Amino acid sequence: MEIGWVIRHLEDSMKHLDKELTSCLFEFRGKVNEIQNGNRLVPTSGSESEVVDVTKSKVTTALNLLTKHKSIKDLSDSFQLHFNELAPSLVLCSSPRGFRTAWGLRSKTLSVQDAEAITNDGGQLIPVNDNSRLLSCEQQGVVLGPHKKLVLAVRHSEGNYDDSLDELGRFTYQPPRDVSGMLRYRWCQFLSKKLKIPFILIVVMWFEYRLNDKMNQLFVMSPAKIIDFDDDLSNLNDSIHKPLKLQLIPRHEAISTINLIRSLNSENIDIDVRAELPDELSREWAYDKINTSEKGKQLKRWAQKNSKNCPGARCNHILFRELKLSDIAFGHIVSQNWTSAFTFMLDKVHHPDNLYLTCKTCNSSLSNNFPDPELRKEIVKEGTIGDWLRLYENSIRNIEK
Ligand SMILES: [Zn+2]
Repeated sequence: MEIGWVIRHLEDSMKHLDKELTSCLFEFRGKVNEIQNGNRLVPTSGSESEVVDVTKSKVTTALNLLTKHKSIKDLSDSFQLHFNELAPSLVLCSSPRGFRTAWGLRSKTLSVQDAEAITNDGGQLIPVNDNSRLLSCEQQGVVLGPHKKLVLAVRHSEGNYDDSLDELGRFTYQPPRDVSGMLRYRWCQFLSKKLKIPFILIVVMWFEYRLNDKMNQLFVMSPAKIIDFDDDLSNLNDSIHKPLKLQLIPRHEAISTINLIRSLNSENIDIDVRAELPDELSREWAYDKINTSEKGKQLKRWAQKNSKNCPGARCNHILFRELKLSDIAFGHIVSQNWTSAFTFMLDKVHHPDNLYLTCKTCNSSLSNNFPDPELRKEIVKEGTIGDWLRLYENSIRNIEK
């Protein structure tokens, strides 16, 4: 048996996430070699800074702490475990608006009016719980996930390193004062970039609140994602001691990201996992916006020009360019009738990922049935409307009339 064949098939039998993490690990180890010995000046609070001595041997120890595993499966399991630990806390999180209100109070102690303002804006005040590392009163700023590999949460308190939260919910979180903490920031950024999945963590604030004449601790949390990491990853020697840039996000965005991470671990290797289509794009190109409009014609002309064909067998996969625009239709993968009967999907039925381009003949022969496995395979191969938008949005927008 040819060795290349064996390796290809071994790779095929690996889970998608294992494959991706293997190459992340390999590349990150290469990048870490860029880091040279030398002092780094790390800002602490206000205008103070502290000198941290970075050495190659500390970097190697840190790298081992963060990435050393018995096997790729072990690394992959630990990655999944991390986000599984994070997931249940998401439902306790506030809306970005409520969290911003809490942030803006700039006070350690909440009055009844303060608490009212936070909850009115979609904030949730959670009582202290010493069984939870997120909801207990610890001083340490960065909370680590299982086995201390990745950042699970960060605690913010007034007067921190950077106090400002901009109108889009973005802020900068203080760099650690030890080499493994520094390298952990870069590793989280690197994973986000390479896996093309936002790295989600939780931001926690805590307050004092008088209840039954006793001071109690209340917590406010919000999910956030790591943003703006390209500069930090271009040369780790320059960036090892840099802070993390974060952006508050709504719960639903965090939950859908965690679901995406779970699906990457799927054994089902013949299905590609897709990142969620941005909300604006999925509304702009929903069925009701494209079915009979100029936008829809744009998509059809784009498909004609790019030699796309009907995924159906009835027409023998006719090229769209051989058809009039009026003989081309938008098909639903899950039918409209099905979603009217089982309404849990009603808000998704016209989503671009439920739509594909088809000839009228194949579309009417399908009627209200689901595409059979053969047709599904062809739809996946040709792409849903959502897939086309992911890959060719600009080219579709610029197609001539
Ligand atoms: Zn057809």
